[in-house]
Order: sequence, then C-alpha cells, then structure tokens
Amino acid sequence: MEQLKRRKPEKILLGEDLYILWKDGHESHYNYLDLRDACPCAGCINEITGEKMLERSSIPQDIHPLGSEYVGNYALRIHWSDGHSTGLYNFRMLRDLSDPPPPSSPQSGS
Ligand SMILES: [Zn+2]
Repeated sequence: MEQLKRRKPEKILLGEDLYILWKDGHESHYNYLDLRDACPCAGCINEITGEKMLERSSIPQDIHPLGSEYVGNYALRIHWSDGHSTGLYNFRMLRDLSDPPPPSSPQSGS
C-alpha cells in the first residue's frame, strides 16, 4: 500500500513550477525546463533504443505549461508552450524523478 501511496498525487499545482503533494505527504517541485527535458514520449526518446533525441538546448528557456490533464489515474499530460503535448508523465516516473526510491526495495536474484 505504501508503494501505491508514493504514486498517487493528492494535489497538483502548476505555478512558478510544478508542485505535487503526494498521498504519503511528500512534496515535489519540478522545474519546467527539466520536466520538458524529461519528456518520455516517442518523439523525444527513441522507443527502440531508449536513446534521447530531444536536445535540451532546443527547449525554449521560458517553457511553461499552457494546460494539463489527467490521463486515467496514472499520468499527467502537459500541454507545453512550445506546442508539444504528446508526453505522458506517469506519476511513478514523476515521483522517482524527485525522490528516487530507496535502494533497499526488494529485488530478487543476486
Ligand atoms: Zn516528447
């Protein structure tokens, strides 16, 4: 259950930066440039090789969201000021981005 709480936002605010309050009480702030740079869509990341195709330098310095919407209950779609809106930021990725999971998480095999 704790893992689920980690991935559920209680509140999302788009202001100076993206602010997320998580169900477990953790707070995250995301710089928009970083967030746009981390876009996981097929246009920014090569789906086959995993290679990043987006040049950070090609992102406008004043990048900001024009709007956002929930996708199902697992992700946030952000409509960026540069016209890009195909990236789905799933909550697990967002949480791991600001608060990497502890290395002690159970892993089988050694
Ligand atoms: Zn993208």
